[in-house]
Amino acid sequence: DVTATKGNEFEDYFLKRELLMGIYEKGFERPSPIQEESIPIALTGTDILARAKNGTGKTAAFCIPALEKIDSDYNVIQGMEIGIMNVLFTFSVSLIDVVILVPTRELALQTSQVCKELGKHLNIQVMATTGGTSLRDDIIRLHQPVHVLVGTPGRILDLAKKGICNLKILQCLLWMRLISYYPLNINPQYLRKPYIINLMDELTLKGITHYYAFVEERQKVHCLNTLFSKLQINQSIIFCNSVNRVEILAKKITELGYSCFYIHAKMLQDHRNRVFHDFRNGACRNLVCTDLFTRGIDIQAVNVVINFDFPKSSETYLHRVGRSGRFGHLGLAVNLITHDDLFNLYRIERELGANIKRLPHLIGQATF
Ligand code: ADP
Repeated sequence: DVTATKGNEFEDYFLKRELLMGIYEKGFERPSPIQEESIPIALTGTDILARAKNGTGKTAAFCIPALEKIDSDYNVIQGMEIGIMNVLFTFSVSLIDVVILVPTRELALQTSQVCKELGKHLNIQVMATTGGTSLRDDIIRLHQPVHVLVGTPGRILDLAKKGICNLKILQCLLWMRLISYYPLNINPQYLRKPYIINLMDELTLKGITHYYAFVEERQKVHCLNTLFSKLQINQSIIFCNSVNRVEILAKKITELGYSCFYIHAKMLQDHRNRVFHDFRNGACRNLVCTDLFTRGIDIQAVNVVINFDFPKSSETYLHRVGRSGRFGHLGLAVNLITHDDLFNLYRIERELGANIKRLPHLIGQATF
Protein backbone atom coordinates (compact mmCIF):
# COMPACT_ATOMS: atom_id res chain seq x y z
CA ASP A 1 0.00 0.00 0.00
CA VAL A 2 1.50 3.34 -1.03
CA THR A 3 0.25 4.99 2.13
CA ALA A 4 1.53 2.35 4.57
CA THR A 5 4.32 3.82 6.64
CA LYS A 6 6.57 2.93 9.54
CA GLY A 7 4.49 5.26 11.70
CA ASN A 8 6.85 8.20 11.83
CA GLU A 9 5.54 11.73 12.21
CA PHE A 10 6.90 14.86 10.55
CA GLU A 11 7.66 16.12 14.07
CA ASP A 12 10.20 13.32 14.43
CA TYR A 13 12.58 15.09 12.04
CA PHE A 14 12.96 18.22 14.19
CA LEU A 15 12.18 20.48 11.27
CA LYS A 16 11.84 24.24 11.62
CA ARG A 17 8.44 25.14 12.99
CA GLU A 18 7.68 27.29 9.92
CA LEU A 19 8.40 24.38 7.60
CA LEU A 20 6.23 22.06 9.65
CA MET A 21 3.41 24.60 9.35
CA GLY A 22 3.77 24.56 5.55
CA ILE A 23 3.70 20.76 5.50
CA TYR A 24 0.54 20.55 7.59
CA GLU A 25 -1.15 23.36 5.70
CA LYS A 26 -0.54 21.41 2.52
CA GLY A 27 -2.58 18.67 4.11
CA PHE A 28 0.22 16.18 4.71
CA GLU A 29 -0.46 14.41 7.98
CA ARG A 30 2.40 11.98 8.05
CA PRO A 31 5.33 11.10 5.81
CA SER A 32 4.86 8.59 3.00
CA PRO A 33 7.29 5.62 2.75
CA ILE A 34 9.70 7.36 0.35
CA GLN A 35 9.65 10.40 2.62
CA GLU A 36 10.32 8.26 5.68
CA GLU A 37 13.24 6.62 3.92
CA SER A 38 14.82 9.74 2.50
CA ILE A 39 14.13 12.74 4.74
CA PRO A 40 16.21 11.67 7.77
CA ILE A 41 19.11 10.61 5.52
CA ALA A 42 19.00 13.77 3.39
CA LEU A 43 19.01 15.92 6.54
CA THR A 44 22.40 14.46 7.43
CA GLY A 45 23.77 15.83 4.15
CA THR A 46 24.25 12.41 2.56
CA ASP A 47 23.76 12.04 -1.19
CA ILE A 48 20.78 9.93 -2.11
CA LEU A 49 19.77 8.00 -5.19
CA ALA A 50 16.12 7.14 -4.75
CA ARG A 51 13.50 5.43 -6.84
CA ALA A 52 9.87 5.18 -5.91
CA LYS A 53 6.61 4.72 -7.68
CA ASN A 54 4.76 7.56 -9.35
CA GLY A 55 2.55 9.53 -7.02
CA THR A 56 4.19 8.42 -3.78
CA GLY A 57 5.49 11.81 -2.69
CA LYS A 58 9.02 12.03 -4.10
CA THR A 59 8.73 15.77 -4.67
CA ALA A 60 8.18 16.53 -1.01
CA ALA A 61 10.71 13.84 -0.09
CA PHE A 62 13.50 16.02 -1.47
CA CYS A 63 11.92 19.47 -1.10
CA ILE A 64 11.43 19.14 2.65
CA PRO A 65 15.09 18.44 3.53
CA ALA A 66 16.27 21.00 0.96
CA LEU A 67 14.04 23.70 2.45
CA GLU A 68 15.12 22.78 5.97
CA LYS A 69 18.76 23.41 5.04
CA ILE A 70 18.25 26.92 3.74
CA ASP A 71 19.32 29.70 6.03
CA SER A 72 17.05 32.50 4.88
CA ASP A 73 18.82 35.08 7.05
CA TYR A 74 22.02 34.67 5.08
CA ASN A 75 22.80 37.57 2.80
CA VAL A 76 21.63 36.20 -0.50
CA ILE A 77 22.64 39.06 -2.75
CA GLN A 78 26.23 39.57 -3.70
CA GLY A 79 28.04 41.94 -6.01
CA MET A 80 29.68 40.15 -8.91
CA GLU A 81 32.08 41.51 -11.42
CA ILE A 82 31.39 40.54 -14.98
CA GLY A 83 33.74 41.51 -17.78
CA ILE A 84 32.12 42.59 -21.01
CA MET A 85 34.48 43.74 -23.81
CA ASN A 86 37.31 44.50 -21.35
CA VAL A 87 35.11 46.61 -19.11
CA LEU A 88 34.25 45.32 -15.66
CA PHE A 89 30.64 45.73 -14.62
CA THR A 90 29.43 45.09 -11.12
CA PHE A 91 26.11 43.33 -10.86
CA SER A 92 24.27 42.21 -7.81
CA VAL A 93 23.17 38.63 -8.23
CA SER A 94 21.40 36.17 -6.05
CA LEU A 95 23.31 33.38 -4.35
CA ILE A 96 21.36 30.22 -4.93
CA ASP A 97 21.02 27.65 -2.13
CA VAL A 98 19.19 24.90 -3.96
CA VAL A 99 18.96 24.00 -7.64
CA ILE A 100 16.34 21.50 -8.74
CA LEU A 101 16.84 20.16 -12.25
CA VAL A 102 13.77 18.77 -13.93
CA PRO A 103 13.28 17.38 -17.43
CA THR A 104 10.23 19.37 -18.55
CA ARG A 105 8.81 22.84 -18.22
CA GLU A 106 5.56 21.67 -16.70
CA LEU A 107 7.44 19.80 -14.01
CA ALA A 108 9.46 22.93 -13.25
CA LEU A 109 6.28 24.88 -12.60
CA GLN A 110 4.71 22.11 -10.57
CA THR A 111 7.83 21.51 -8.46
CA SER A 112 8.39 25.20 -7.78
CA GLN A 113 4.75 25.44 -6.71
CA VAL A 114 5.24 22.59 -4.22
CA CYS A 115 8.38 24.33 -2.85
CA LYS A 116 6.54 27.62 -2.51
CA GLU A 117 3.69 25.99 -0.64
CA LEU A 118 5.86 23.94 1.69
CA GLY A 119 8.12 26.95 2.31
CA LYS A 120 5.26 29.44 2.65
CA HIS A 121 6.24 30.49 6.19
CA LEU A 122 9.99 30.25 5.66
CA ASN A 123 10.73 33.60 4.09
CA ILE A 124 12.40 32.02 1.08
CA GLN A 125 12.07 32.79 -2.60
CA VAL A 126 11.52 30.12 -5.23
CA MET A 127 11.99 30.75 -8.94
CA ALA A 128 11.18 28.57 -11.92
CA THR A 129 13.17 29.01 -15.09
CA THR A 130 12.93 27.12 -18.35
CA GLY A 131 13.90 27.48 -21.96
CA GLY A 132 11.33 29.09 -24.20
CA THR A 133 10.69 31.95 -21.78
CA SER A 134 12.37 35.37 -21.64
CA LEU A 135 16.01 35.19 -20.52
CA ARG A 136 15.92 38.91 -19.82
CA ASP A 137 13.07 38.51 -17.32
CA ASP A 138 15.06 35.79 -15.56
CA ILE A 139 18.12 38.03 -15.34
CA ILE A 140 16.08 40.85 -13.83
CA ARG A 141 14.46 38.43 -11.39
CA LEU A 142 17.88 37.14 -10.29
CA HIS A 143 18.90 40.58 -9.05
CA GLN A 144 16.50 39.85 -6.21
CA PRO A 145 17.08 37.05 -3.70
CA VAL A 146 16.32 33.54 -4.98
CA HIS A 147 16.94 30.62 -2.65
CA VAL A 148 15.56 27.79 -4.73
CA LEU A 149 15.97 27.70 -8.49
CA VAL A 150 13.89 25.08 -10.28
CA GLY A 151 14.40 24.56 -13.97
CA THR A 152 15.46 22.65 -17.01
CA PRO A 153 19.20 21.99 -17.40
CA GLY A 154 19.74 24.07 -20.56
CA ARG A 155 18.43 27.31 -19.12
CA ILE A 156 20.17 26.90 -15.76
CA LEU A 157 23.46 26.19 -17.50
CA ASP A 158 22.92 29.26 -19.62
CA LEU A 159 22.38 31.46 -16.57
CA ALA A 160 25.34 29.95 -14.72
CA LYS A 161 27.67 30.41 -17.70
CA LYS A 162 26.66 34.03 -18.06
CA GLY A 163 27.45 34.50 -14.37
CA ILE A 164 23.90 35.55 -13.69
CA CYS A 165 23.08 32.94 -11.14
CA ASN A 166 25.72 32.33 -8.56
CA LEU A 167 26.01 28.77 -7.41
CA LYS A 168 28.88 29.43 -4.97
CA ILE A 169 26.93 28.56 -1.85
CA LEU A 170 24.88 25.85 -3.49
CA GLN A 171 24.14 23.23 -0.85
CA CYS A 172 21.87 20.98 -2.67
CA LEU A 173 21.45 19.84 -6.26
CA LEU A 174 18.43 17.74 -7.00
CA TRP A 175 18.11 15.84 -10.22
CA MET A 176 14.49 15.13 -10.25
CA ARG A 177 13.45 12.40 -12.63
CA LEU A 178 16.38 13.07 -14.93
CA ILE A 179 18.02 9.92 -13.78
CA SER A 180 15.08 8.23 -12.18
CA TYR A 181 14.82 5.73 -15.00
CA TYR A 182 18.45 4.68 -14.95
CA PRO A 183 18.97 1.21 -13.60
CA LEU A 184 20.17 1.50 -10.02
CA ASN A 185 23.49 -0.16 -10.74
CA ILE A 186 24.47 2.88 -12.82
CA ASN A 187 26.00 4.84 -10.06
CA PRO A 188 26.24 8.37 -11.39
CA GLN A 189 29.68 9.78 -10.81
CA TYR A 190 28.37 13.06 -9.50
CA LEU A 191 27.00 11.42 -6.37
CA ARG A 192 29.35 10.90 -3.44
CA LYS A 193 28.77 7.46 -1.95
CA PRO A 194 25.04 7.77 -2.43
CA TYR A 195 22.57 6.15 -0.10
CA ILE A 196 20.38 4.04 -2.33
CA ILE A 197 16.65 3.77 -1.75
CA ASN A 198 14.61 1.57 -4.04
CA LEU A 199 10.88 1.38 -3.48
CA MET A 200 10.14 0.27 -7.02
CA ASP A 201 9.60 -3.40 -6.32
CA GLU A 202 5.85 -3.17 -6.32
CA LEU A 203 3.78 -2.62 -9.39
CA THR A 204 2.93 1.02 -9.90
CA LEU A 205 -0.56 0.35 -11.15
CA LYS A 206 -2.15 -0.34 -7.80
CA GLY A 207 -5.58 1.16 -7.33
CA ILE A 208 -6.15 1.49 -11.07
CA THR A 209 -8.71 -0.62 -12.91
CA HIS A 210 -7.92 -1.24 -16.59
CA TYR A 211 -10.39 -1.80 -19.36
CA TYR A 212 -10.14 -2.10 -23.09
CA ALA A 213 -12.80 -1.53 -25.71
CA PHE A 214 -12.26 -3.19 -29.07
CA VAL A 215 -13.08 -0.64 -31.77
CA GLU A 216 -12.37 0.27 -35.35
CA GLU A 217 -10.43 3.44 -35.91
CA ARG A 218 -13.48 5.29 -37.25
CA GLN A 219 -15.57 4.30 -34.18
CA LYS A 220 -13.16 5.79 -31.67
CA VAL A 221 -14.84 9.18 -31.32
CA HIS A 222 -18.25 7.57 -30.94
CA CYS A 223 -16.84 5.25 -28.28
CA LEU A 224 -15.33 8.21 -26.44
CA ASN A 225 -18.67 9.96 -26.53
CA THR A 226 -20.28 6.91 -24.89
CA LEU A 227 -17.56 6.81 -22.25
CA PHE A 228 -18.10 10.48 -21.45
CA SER A 229 -21.81 9.93 -20.99
CA LYS A 230 -21.48 6.79 -18.86
CA LEU A 231 -18.39 7.24 -16.72
CA GLN A 232 -18.23 9.38 -13.64
CA ILE A 233 -15.39 11.59 -14.68
CA ASN A 234 -13.92 13.96 -12.20
CA GLN A 235 -11.16 14.98 -14.61
CA SER A 236 -9.79 12.92 -17.46
CA ILE A 237 -6.64 12.88 -19.55
CA ILE A 238 -6.97 11.50 -23.08
CA PHE A 239 -3.79 10.42 -24.84
CA CYS A 240 -3.14 10.45 -28.58
CA ASN A 241 0.02 9.33 -30.34
CA SER A 242 0.62 12.48 -32.39
CA VAL A 243 0.32 16.26 -32.17
CA ASN A 244 -1.96 16.30 -35.17
CA ARG A 245 -4.37 13.78 -33.69
CA VAL A 246 -4.48 15.74 -30.41
CA GLU A 247 -5.70 18.84 -32.20
CA ILE A 248 -8.26 17.00 -34.30
CA LEU A 249 -9.63 15.06 -31.36
CA ALA A 250 -9.86 18.11 -29.10
CA LYS A 251 -11.94 19.81 -31.78
CA LYS A 252 -14.26 16.82 -32.08
CA ILE A 253 -14.73 16.56 -28.32
CA THR A 254 -15.66 20.22 -28.16
CA GLU A 255 -18.14 19.70 -31.00
CA LEU A 256 -19.70 16.88 -29.00
CA GLY A 257 -20.39 19.44 -26.29
CA TYR A 258 -17.78 18.44 -23.70
CA SER A 259 -15.33 20.88 -22.20
CA CYS A 260 -11.84 20.10 -23.38
CA PHE A 261 -8.32 21.52 -23.35
CA TYR A 262 -5.35 20.22 -25.26
CA ILE A 263 -1.61 20.42 -24.81
CA HIS A 264 1.31 19.28 -26.95
CA ALA A 265 4.95 20.07 -27.60
CA LYS A 266 4.35 22.26 -30.62
CA MET A 267 2.36 24.84 -28.68
CA LEU A 268 4.01 28.05 -27.50
CA GLN A 269 5.31 27.74 -23.99
CA ASP A 270 3.15 30.46 -22.45
CA HIS A 271 0.09 28.85 -23.92
CA ARG A 272 1.12 25.43 -22.59
CA ASN A 273 1.70 26.87 -19.13
CA ARG A 274 -1.68 28.53 -19.11
CA VAL A 275 -3.53 25.39 -20.22
CA PHE A 276 -1.69 23.24 -17.70
CA HIS A 277 -2.37 25.70 -14.90
CA ASP A 278 -6.05 26.09 -15.77
CA PHE A 279 -6.61 22.35 -16.09
CA ARG A 280 -4.94 21.81 -12.75
CA ASN A 281 -7.26 24.37 -11.20
CA GLY A 282 -10.25 22.51 -12.56
CA ALA A 283 -11.21 25.01 -15.26
CA CYS A 284 -11.95 22.13 -17.60
CA ARG A 285 -12.87 18.49 -17.22
CA ASN A 286 -10.93 16.87 -20.06
CA LEU A 287 -7.43 17.27 -21.40
CA VAL A 288 -6.20 15.76 -24.67
CA CYS A 289 -2.43 15.42 -24.98
CA THR A 290 0.58 13.56 -26.28
CA ASP A 291 3.16 11.84 -24.12
CA LEU A 292 4.73 15.20 -23.44
CA PHE A 293 2.44 15.22 -20.50
CA THR A 294 3.21 11.93 -18.90
CA ARG A 295 6.17 11.82 -16.57
CA GLY A 296 5.71 13.02 -13.08
CA ILE A 297 2.80 15.31 -13.62
CA ASP A 298 0.48 15.11 -10.65
CA ILE A 299 -3.12 16.18 -10.85
CA GLN A 300 -5.04 14.51 -8.07
CA ALA A 301 -8.45 15.22 -9.54
CA VAL A 302 -7.76 13.01 -12.56
CA ASN A 303 -9.62 9.75 -12.02
CA VAL A 304 -9.88 8.57 -15.62
CA VAL A 305 -7.15 8.12 -18.23
CA ILE A 306 -8.22 7.21 -21.74
CA ASN A 307 -5.76 5.87 -24.27
CA PHE A 308 -7.51 7.07 -27.42
CA ASP A 309 -4.42 5.75 -29.16
CA PHE A 310 -2.83 2.77 -27.47
CA PRO A 311 0.82 3.28 -26.48
CA LYS A 312 3.62 1.23 -27.99
CA SER A 313 5.53 0.35 -24.84
CA SER A 314 4.67 -0.76 -21.33
CA GLU A 315 6.76 2.06 -19.90
CA THR A 316 4.65 4.63 -21.71
CA TYR A 317 1.50 2.81 -20.60
CA LEU A 318 2.64 2.93 -17.01
CA HIS A 319 3.41 6.62 -17.15
CA ARG A 320 0.19 7.57 -18.89
CA VAL A 321 -2.07 5.51 -16.72
CA GLY A 322 -0.18 6.49 -13.57
CA ARG A 323 -1.64 9.99 -14.08
CA SER A 324 -4.70 8.70 -12.26
CA GLY A 325 -4.63 6.93 -8.95
CA ARG A 326 -2.31 9.45 -7.33
CA PHE A 327 -1.39 8.95 -3.70
CA GLY A 328 -3.68 6.01 -3.12
CA HIS A 329 -6.74 7.45 -4.89
CA LEU A 330 -8.58 5.03 -7.17
CA GLY A 331 -8.38 5.44 -10.91
CA LEU A 332 -9.73 4.02 -14.13
CA ALA A 333 -7.86 3.45 -17.38
CA VAL A 334 -9.76 2.80 -20.60
CA ASN A 335 -7.91 1.71 -23.74
CA LEU A 336 -9.41 1.98 -27.20
CA ILE A 337 -7.95 -0.99 -29.02
CA THR A 338 -7.97 -1.49 -32.78
CA HIS A 339 -6.94 -4.65 -34.54
CA ASP A 340 -3.41 -3.28 -34.97
CA ASP A 341 -3.02 -2.76 -31.21
CA LEU A 342 -3.87 -6.29 -30.16
CA PHE A 343 -0.33 -7.56 -30.09
CA ASN A 344 0.82 -4.57 -27.99
CA LEU A 345 -2.12 -5.02 -25.65
CA TYR A 346 -1.15 -8.59 -24.83
CA ARG A 347 2.52 -7.74 -24.56
CA ILE A 348 1.99 -4.74 -22.27
CA GLU A 349 -0.47 -6.64 -20.14
CA ARG A 350 2.04 -9.42 -19.69
CA GLU A 351 5.03 -7.15 -19.09
CA LEU A 352 3.22 -5.13 -16.45
CA GLY A 353 1.38 -8.06 -14.94
CA ALA A 354 -1.78 -5.97 -15.30
CA ASN A 355 -5.23 -7.35 -15.87
CA ILE A 356 -6.77 -5.30 -18.68
CA LYS A 357 -10.39 -6.40 -18.83
CA ARG A 358 -12.89 -6.04 -21.60
CA LEU A 359 -15.13 -3.07 -20.91
CA PRO A 360 -18.57 -4.28 -19.82
CA HIS A 361 -21.42 -3.34 -22.17
CA LEU A 362 -23.08 -1.45 -19.37
CA ILE A 363 -20.06 0.63 -18.64
CA GLY A 364 -22.08 2.72 -16.24
CA GLN A 365 -21.71 -0.24 -13.92
CA ALA A 366 -17.95 -0.44 -14.28
CA THR A 367 -16.69 -0.20 -10.76
CA PHE A 368 -13.59 1.73 -9.84
P1 ADP B 1 5.96 11.65 -7.07
O1 ADP B 1 6.92 12.79 -7.11
O2 ADP B 1 6.46 10.46 -6.29
O3 ADP B 1 5.41 11.23 -8.42
P2 ADP B 1 4.28 13.63 -5.88
O4 ADP B 1 5.36 14.25 -5.10
O5 ADP B 1 3.80 14.31 -7.11
O6 ADP B 1 4.69 12.14 -6.26
O7 ADP B 1 3.07 13.35 -4.86
C1 ADP B 1 1.82 12.83 -5.26
C2 ADP B 1 0.69 13.48 -4.48
O8 ADP B 1 0.73 13.08 -3.11
C3 ADP B 1 0.76 15.01 -4.48
O9 ADP B 1 -0.53 15.52 -4.72
C4 ADP B 1 1.24 15.36 -3.09
O10 ADP B 1 0.72 16.61 -2.68
C5 ADP B 1 0.68 14.21 -2.26
N1 ADP B 1 1.52 13.92 -1.08
C6 ADP B 1 2.87 13.84 -1.04
N2 ADP B 1 3.31 13.55 0.20
C7 ADP B 1 2.20 13.42 0.96
C8 ADP B 1 1.98 13.12 2.37
N3 ADP B 1 2.99 12.88 3.19
N4 ADP B 1 0.69 13.07 2.80
C9 ADP B 1 -0.35 13.30 1.95
N5 ADP B 1 -0.20 13.61 0.63
C10 ADP B 1 1.05 13.65 0.14
